[in-house]
Amino acid sequence: MGRGVISIRLADETRPSRLHQPERATTRFDLSLSENPFPPLPSVLAAVNGVLAQANRYPEFLPRRLPKLIAAHLGLHPDQVVVGSGATGVAMQIIQTLTTPGAGIVYGAPTFDGYPIMAEMAGLDIVPVPLDAGGNQDLPAIARAVDQRTGLVVVCRPHNPTGTVVPVGLLEAFLYAVPRRVPVILDEAYVEFLGAADRIDTSALLHRHPNLLVLRTFSKAYGLAGLRIGYVIGNGELINRVRRLQLPFGVSSAAVAAVAASYAAEPELAARIVRITAEREALRNALCHRGIPVPRSHANFLYLPGPGAATTLRRAGISAKAYLDGSARITVGDHEADNAVLHAFSPRGDFAPIPEAS
Ligand code: PMP
Repeated sequence: MGRGVISIRLADETRPSRLHQPERATTRFDLSLSENPFPPLPSVLAAVNGVLAQANRYPEFLPRRLPKLIAAHLGLHPDQVVVGSGATGVAMQIIQTLTTPGAGIVYGAPTFDGYPIMAEMAGLDIVPVPLDAGGNQDLPAIARAVDQRTGLVVVCRPHNPTGTVVPVGLLEAFLYAVPRRVPVILDEAYVEFLGAADRIDTSALLHRHPNLLVLRTFSKAYGLAGLRIGYVIGNGELINRVRRLQLPFGVSSAAVAAVAASYAAEPELAARIVRITAEREALRNALCHRGIPVPRSHANFLYLPGPGAATTLRRAGISAKAYLDGSARITVGDHEADNAVLHAFSPRGDFAPIPEAS
Protein backbone atom coordinates (compact mmCIF):
# COMPACT_ATOMS: atom_id res chain seq x y z
CA MET A 1 0.00 0.00 0.00
CA GLY A 2 2.84 2.36 -0.84
CA ARG A 3 2.10 5.71 -2.34
CA GLY A 4 3.73 7.97 -4.89
CA VAL A 5 5.42 11.19 -3.90
CA ILE A 6 4.47 14.57 -5.26
CA SER A 7 7.48 16.71 -6.02
CA ILE A 8 7.03 20.46 -6.11
CA ARG A 9 9.57 22.34 -8.16
CA LEU A 10 10.68 25.25 -6.01
CA ALA A 11 13.43 26.64 -8.18
CA ASP A 12 14.65 26.43 -11.75
CA GLU A 13 16.27 23.13 -12.37
CA THR A 14 20.05 23.16 -12.56
CA ARG A 15 22.19 20.44 -14.03
CA PRO A 16 23.30 18.09 -11.26
CA SER A 17 27.03 17.93 -10.71
CA ARG A 18 28.51 14.50 -11.26
CA LEU A 19 30.53 14.93 -8.11
CA HIS A 20 27.51 15.67 -5.96
CA GLN A 21 25.04 12.81 -6.05
CA PRO A 22 22.31 13.62 -3.54
CA GLU A 23 21.22 10.61 -1.56
CA ARG A 24 17.70 9.89 -2.68
CA ALA A 25 15.53 6.87 -2.01
CA THR A 26 12.17 6.60 -3.69
CA THR A 27 9.32 6.31 -1.22
CA ARG A 28 8.03 2.76 -1.09
CA PHE A 29 5.73 3.23 1.88
CA ASP A 30 4.22 6.39 3.28
CA LEU A 31 3.86 5.84 7.02
CA SER A 32 3.96 9.51 7.94
CA LEU A 33 0.32 10.41 8.61
CA SER A 34 -1.02 7.68 10.92
CA GLU A 35 -3.67 6.74 8.41
CA ASN A 36 -5.67 3.53 8.37
CA PRO A 37 -4.04 1.18 5.83
CA PHE A 38 -7.39 -0.37 4.87
CA PRO A 39 -9.50 1.26 2.13
CA PRO A 40 -13.15 2.05 2.99
CA LEU A 41 -15.41 -0.97 3.47
CA PRO A 42 -17.55 -1.81 0.41
CA SER A 43 -20.71 -0.90 2.37
CA VAL A 44 -19.28 2.52 3.24
CA LEU A 45 -18.20 3.11 -0.36
CA ALA A 46 -21.68 2.15 -1.60
CA ALA A 47 -23.33 4.57 0.82
CA VAL A 48 -21.04 7.43 -0.20
CA ASN A 49 -21.54 6.64 -3.90
CA GLY A 50 -25.27 6.77 -3.37
CA VAL A 51 -25.21 10.37 -2.18
CA LEU A 52 -22.61 11.47 -4.73
CA ALA A 53 -25.28 11.06 -7.40
CA GLN A 54 -26.86 14.16 -5.84
CA ALA A 55 -23.68 16.15 -5.46
CA ASN A 56 -25.27 19.00 -7.44
CA ARG A 57 -27.32 19.69 -4.28
CA TYR A 58 -26.04 21.49 -1.19
CA PRO A 59 -25.89 19.61 2.08
CA GLU A 60 -27.77 20.96 5.12
CA PHE A 61 -27.17 24.66 5.83
CA LEU A 62 -26.04 23.86 9.37
CA PRO A 63 -25.37 20.20 10.10
CA ARG A 64 -28.15 18.57 12.11
CA ARG A 65 -28.19 14.97 10.87
CA LEU A 66 -24.54 14.24 11.63
CA PRO A 67 -24.60 15.54 15.25
CA LYS A 68 -27.85 13.59 15.75
CA LEU A 69 -26.31 10.38 14.40
CA ILE A 70 -23.19 10.73 16.54
CA ALA A 71 -25.12 11.72 19.66
CA ALA A 72 -27.46 8.72 19.30
CA HIS A 73 -24.46 6.44 18.90
CA LEU A 74 -22.82 7.84 22.04
CA GLY A 75 -25.98 8.17 24.13
CA LEU A 76 -25.72 11.97 24.25
CA HIS A 77 -27.98 14.90 23.33
CA PRO A 78 -27.32 16.33 19.83
CA ASP A 79 -26.69 19.73 21.47
CA GLN A 80 -23.59 18.24 23.07
CA VAL A 81 -21.96 17.52 19.68
CA VAL A 82 -20.31 19.92 17.22
CA VAL A 83 -19.06 18.50 13.92
CA GLY A 84 -16.55 19.83 11.43
CA SER A 85 -13.88 19.24 8.83
CA GLY A 86 -11.89 16.59 10.64
CA ALA A 87 -10.76 16.96 14.23
CA THR A 88 -8.45 19.62 12.80
CA GLY A 89 -11.36 21.76 11.61
CA VAL A 90 -13.13 21.34 14.93
CA ALA A 91 -9.98 22.18 16.92
CA MET A 92 -9.58 25.35 14.85
CA GLN A 93 -13.19 26.24 15.63
CA ILE A 94 -12.51 25.68 19.34
CA ILE A 95 -9.46 27.95 19.18
CA GLN A 96 -11.36 30.65 17.32
CA THR A 97 -14.34 30.63 19.65
CA LEU A 98 -12.66 30.16 23.03
CA THR A 99 -9.33 31.96 22.83
CA THR A 100 -8.05 35.44 22.01
CA PRO A 101 -4.75 36.33 20.33
CA GLY A 102 -1.91 36.52 22.82
CA ALA A 103 -3.37 33.84 25.09
CA GLY A 104 -1.31 30.75 25.81
CA ILE A 105 -1.95 27.18 24.62
CA VAL A 106 -0.34 24.53 26.84
CA TYR A 107 0.38 20.99 25.64
CA GLY A 108 2.84 18.13 26.02
CA ALA A 109 5.48 18.39 23.29
CA PRO A 110 5.98 17.01 20.77
CA THR A 111 2.31 16.63 19.92
CA PHE A 112 0.03 16.55 16.87
CA ASP A 113 1.52 19.17 14.52
CA GLY A 114 -1.88 20.78 14.05
CA TYR A 115 -1.77 22.39 17.49
CA PRO A 116 1.33 24.54 17.03
CA ILE A 117 0.29 25.29 13.45
CA MET A 118 -3.20 26.46 14.40
CA ALA A 119 -1.86 28.30 17.47
CA GLU A 120 0.37 30.31 15.14
CA MET A 121 -2.56 31.02 12.80
CA ALA A 122 -4.65 32.27 15.73
CA GLY A 123 -1.85 34.32 17.31
CA LEU A 124 -1.62 32.15 20.43
CA ASP A 125 1.56 31.77 22.45
CA ILE A 126 2.62 28.15 22.53
CA VAL A 127 3.65 26.71 25.88
CA PRO A 128 5.15 23.30 25.07
CA VAL A 129 5.79 21.07 28.10
CA PRO A 130 8.34 18.31 27.33
CA LEU A 131 7.23 14.68 27.49
CA ASP A 132 8.95 12.58 30.15
CA ALA A 133 11.67 10.08 29.20
CA GLY A 134 9.06 7.38 28.56
CA GLY A 135 7.13 9.53 26.07
CA ASN A 136 4.32 10.36 28.51
CA GLN A 137 2.67 13.74 28.86
CA ASP A 138 3.77 15.20 32.19
CA LEU A 139 0.36 16.20 33.55
CA PRO A 140 1.61 17.77 36.81
CA ALA A 141 4.05 19.92 34.78
CA ILE A 142 1.30 20.83 32.30
CA ALA A 143 -0.94 21.88 35.23
CA ARG A 144 1.92 23.98 36.66
CA ALA A 145 2.40 25.68 33.28
CA VAL A 146 -1.21 26.98 33.34
CA ASP A 147 -1.35 30.62 34.41
CA GLN A 148 -3.44 33.79 34.06
CA ARG A 149 -2.66 34.02 30.35
CA THR A 150 -3.58 30.43 29.48
CA GLY A 151 -6.45 30.23 26.99
CA LEU A 152 -6.45 26.52 26.23
CA VAL A 153 -4.86 23.24 27.36
CA VAL A 154 -4.58 20.10 25.24
CA VAL A 155 -4.10 16.55 26.49
CA CYS A 156 -4.03 13.68 23.99
CA ARG A 157 -5.16 10.20 25.01
CA PRO A 158 -3.49 8.22 23.44
CA HIS A 159 -0.73 10.71 22.84
CA ASN A 160 0.59 11.49 19.37
CA PRO A 161 3.45 10.72 18.58
CA THR A 162 4.31 8.23 21.35
CA GLY A 163 1.02 6.32 21.68
CA THR A 164 1.19 6.48 25.48
CA VAL A 165 -1.94 6.75 27.62
CA VAL A 166 -2.33 8.88 30.73
CA PRO A 167 -3.84 6.83 33.56
CA VAL A 168 -7.41 7.83 34.36
CA GLY A 169 -6.58 8.74 37.98
CA LEU A 170 -3.85 11.16 36.88
CA LEU A 171 -6.15 12.66 34.27
CA GLU A 172 -8.89 13.26 36.82
CA ALA A 173 -6.47 14.85 39.32
CA PHE A 174 -5.16 17.03 36.50
CA LEU A 175 -8.65 18.17 35.50
CA TYR A 176 -9.35 19.18 39.11
CA ALA A 177 -6.06 21.10 39.19
CA VAL A 178 -6.81 23.21 36.08
CA PRO A 179 -8.92 26.32 36.85
CA ARG A 180 -12.48 26.04 35.53
CA ARG A 181 -12.14 29.16 33.41
CA VAL A 182 -9.52 27.37 31.23
CA PRO A 183 -10.96 25.03 28.56
CA VAL A 184 -9.23 21.65 28.22
CA ILE A 185 -9.30 19.62 25.00
CA LEU A 186 -9.04 15.90 25.62
CA ASP A 187 -7.93 14.77 22.16
CA GLU A 188 -9.18 11.22 21.61
CA ALA A 189 -8.30 10.92 17.91
CA TYR A 190 -7.11 7.32 18.50
CA VAL A 191 -9.55 6.31 21.25
CA GLU A 192 -10.90 3.31 19.31
CA PHE A 193 -7.48 1.63 19.51
CA LEU A 194 -7.56 1.61 23.33
CA GLY A 195 -7.98 -1.70 25.13
CA ALA A 196 -11.04 -2.14 27.35
CA ALA A 197 -9.04 -1.50 30.54
CA ASP A 198 -7.93 1.94 29.33
CA ARG A 199 -11.34 3.21 28.23
CA ILE A 200 -12.85 5.99 30.31
CA ASP A 201 -16.43 7.02 30.97
CA THR A 202 -16.29 10.25 29.00
CA SER A 203 -19.88 11.30 29.81
CA ALA A 204 -19.17 11.08 33.55
CA LEU A 205 -15.96 13.05 33.07
CA LEU A 206 -17.82 15.74 31.12
CA HIS A 207 -20.36 16.01 33.95
CA ARG A 208 -17.66 16.60 36.53
CA HIS A 209 -15.62 19.03 34.40
CA PRO A 210 -17.64 21.67 32.54
CA ASN A 211 -14.41 23.08 31.03
CA LEU A 212 -13.70 19.78 29.24
CA LEU A 213 -14.11 19.20 25.49
CA VAL A 214 -13.54 15.73 24.02
CA LEU A 215 -12.29 15.74 20.43
CA ARG A 216 -12.65 12.76 18.07
CA THR A 217 -12.27 11.90 14.40
CA PHE A 218 -13.37 9.45 11.72
CA SER A 219 -9.91 9.70 10.10
CA LYS A 220 -8.14 6.97 12.05
CA ALA A 221 -9.94 3.82 13.23
CA TYR A 222 -12.85 4.50 10.85
CA GLY A 223 -10.44 4.99 7.94
CA LEU A 224 -12.15 8.06 6.48
CA ALA A 225 -9.32 10.62 6.58
CA GLY A 226 -10.08 11.80 3.05
CA LEU A 227 -13.66 12.72 3.90
CA ARG A 228 -12.67 15.11 6.72
CA ILE A 229 -15.11 14.28 9.53
CA GLY A 230 -14.46 15.14 13.17
CA TYR A 231 -16.45 16.19 16.19
CA VAL A 232 -16.23 17.50 19.71
CA ILE A 233 -18.48 16.67 22.64
CA GLY A 234 -18.98 18.89 25.64
CA ASN A 235 -21.51 20.50 27.88
CA GLY A 236 -23.62 23.61 28.18
CA GLU A 237 -22.20 27.02 27.60
CA LEU A 238 -18.80 25.92 26.29
CA ILE A 239 -20.09 23.70 23.49
CA ASN A 240 -22.67 26.36 22.54
CA ARG A 241 -19.86 28.86 22.13
CA VAL A 242 -17.97 26.44 19.87
CA ARG A 243 -21.10 25.89 17.76
CA ARG A 244 -21.42 29.62 17.05
CA LEU A 245 -18.72 29.44 14.36
CA GLN A 246 -20.26 26.48 12.52
CA LEU A 247 -19.48 26.97 8.84
CA PRO A 248 -22.66 27.09 6.69
CA PHE A 249 -22.82 24.13 4.28
CA GLY A 250 -19.52 22.99 5.85
CA VAL A 251 -20.29 19.28 6.29
CA SER A 252 -20.95 17.22 3.15
CA SER A 253 -23.79 14.76 2.64
CA ALA A 254 -21.11 12.16 1.94
CA ALA A 255 -19.91 12.57 5.52
CA VAL A 256 -23.35 11.79 6.89
CA ALA A 257 -23.70 8.70 4.67
CA ALA A 258 -20.20 7.47 5.53
CA VAL A 259 -20.75 7.80 9.28
CA ALA A 260 -24.13 6.05 9.18
CA ALA A 261 -22.65 3.18 7.12
CA SER A 262 -19.60 2.98 9.40
CA TYR A 263 -21.73 2.71 12.52
CA ALA A 264 -23.65 -0.10 10.80
CA ALA A 265 -20.33 -1.86 10.08
CA GLU A 266 -18.81 -1.65 13.58
CA PRO A 267 -17.93 -5.38 13.79
CA GLU A 268 -15.96 -5.28 10.51
CA LEU A 269 -14.18 -2.11 11.59
CA ALA A 270 -13.43 -3.64 14.99
CA ALA A 271 -11.84 -6.65 13.23
CA ARG A 272 -9.57 -4.26 11.33
CA ILE A 273 -8.57 -2.58 14.59
CA VAL A 274 -7.63 -6.00 15.99
CA ARG A 275 -5.43 -6.66 12.96
CA ILE A 276 -3.75 -3.27 13.16
CA THR A 277 -3.04 -3.57 16.89
CA ALA A 278 -1.76 -7.16 16.49
CA GLU A 279 0.67 -5.96 13.78
CA ARG A 280 1.69 -3.09 16.05
CA GLU A 281 2.51 -5.41 18.95
CA ALA A 282 4.47 -7.83 16.75
CA LEU A 283 6.50 -5.03 15.19
CA ARG A 284 7.13 -3.34 18.55
CA ASN A 285 8.34 -6.61 20.09
CA ALA A 286 10.68 -7.21 17.18
CA LEU A 287 12.06 -3.65 17.35
CA CYS A 288 12.50 -3.80 21.13
CA HIS A 289 14.30 -7.09 20.60
CA ARG A 290 16.78 -5.16 18.44
CA GLY A 291 17.38 -2.77 21.32
CA ILE A 292 15.17 0.09 20.11
CA PRO A 293 13.26 1.41 23.15
CA VAL A 294 9.87 1.83 21.47
CA PRO A 295 7.26 3.02 24.00
CA ARG A 296 4.19 0.81 24.38
CA SER A 297 1.66 2.31 21.98
CA HIS A 298 -2.11 2.36 22.29
CA ALA A 299 -2.71 3.81 18.82
CA ASN A 300 -2.05 2.85 15.18
CA PHE A 301 1.54 4.06 15.20
CA LEU A 302 4.86 3.46 16.91
CA TYR A 303 7.45 6.00 18.05
CA LEU A 304 11.07 5.08 17.34
CA PRO A 305 13.32 7.27 19.50
CA GLY A 306 16.26 8.91 17.76
CA PRO A 307 18.89 9.69 16.82
CA GLY A 308 19.07 8.02 13.44
CA ALA A 309 15.65 6.37 13.36
CA ALA A 310 14.17 8.76 10.79
CA THR A 311 17.31 8.55 8.62
CA THR A 312 17.34 4.74 8.66
CA LEU A 313 13.73 4.71 7.49
CA ARG A 314 14.26 7.35 4.82
CA ARG A 315 17.23 5.41 3.41
CA ALA A 316 14.97 2.36 3.17
CA GLY A 317 12.39 4.34 1.18
CA ILE A 318 9.98 4.59 4.10
CA SER A 319 8.42 7.96 4.73
CA ALA A 320 7.93 8.56 8.47
CA LYS A 321 7.05 11.57 10.56
CA ALA A 322 10.49 12.80 11.63
CA TYR A 323 11.35 14.79 14.77
CA LEU A 324 14.20 17.23 15.42
CA ASP A 325 16.21 14.75 17.51
CA GLY A 326 16.07 12.13 14.74
CA SER A 327 13.16 10.17 16.21
CA ALA A 328 10.42 8.88 13.94
CA ARG A 329 6.74 8.01 14.13
CA ILE A 330 5.50 5.29 11.80
CA THR A 331 1.98 4.17 11.02
CA VAL A 332 1.43 0.45 11.54
CA GLY A 333 -0.99 -2.11 10.16
CA ASP A 334 0.18 -2.62 6.58
CA HIS A 335 1.93 -5.99 6.84
CA GLU A 336 4.31 -5.43 3.96
CA ALA A 337 5.29 -2.00 5.25
CA ASP A 338 5.75 -3.30 8.79
CA ASN A 339 8.19 -5.91 7.51
CA ALA A 340 10.01 -3.25 5.49
CA VAL A 341 10.47 -1.26 8.73
CA LEU A 342 11.84 -4.31 10.49
CA HIS A 343 14.13 -5.03 7.56
CA ALA A 344 15.45 -1.44 7.69
CA PHE A 345 16.50 -2.00 11.30
CA SER A 346 18.12 -5.38 10.61
CA PRO A 347 21.48 -4.34 9.15
CA ARG A 348 23.23 -7.63 10.00
CA GLY A 349 20.80 -9.66 7.94
CA ASP A 350 19.12 -11.07 11.07
CA PHE A 351 15.73 -10.40 9.53
CA ALA A 352 12.85 -12.75 10.29
CA PRO A 353 9.55 -11.38 8.97
CA ILE A 354 6.78 -10.84 11.52
CA PRO A 355 3.94 -13.31 11.01
CA GLU A 356 0.80 -11.95 9.38
CA ALA A 357 -2.15 -11.57 11.78
CA SER A 358 -4.91 -14.01 10.78
N1 PMP B 1 -5.55 14.95 16.86
C1 PMP B 1 -4.53 14.11 16.79
C2 PMP B 1 -3.84 13.69 18.06
C3 PMP B 1 -4.09 13.63 15.55
O1 PMP B 1 -3.04 12.81 15.50
C4 PMP B 1 -4.75 14.05 14.38
C5 PMP B 1 -4.33 13.59 13.00
N2 PMP B 1 -3.05 13.18 12.83
C6 PMP B 1 -5.83 14.92 14.51
C7 PMP B 1 -6.20 15.35 15.77
C8 PMP B 1 -6.56 15.44 13.32
O2 PMP B 1 -7.25 14.48 12.61
P1 PMP B 1 -8.26 14.84 11.46
O3 PMP B 1 -8.22 16.32 11.22
O4 PMP B 1 -7.87 14.04 10.29
O5 PMP B 1 -9.61 14.45 11.98
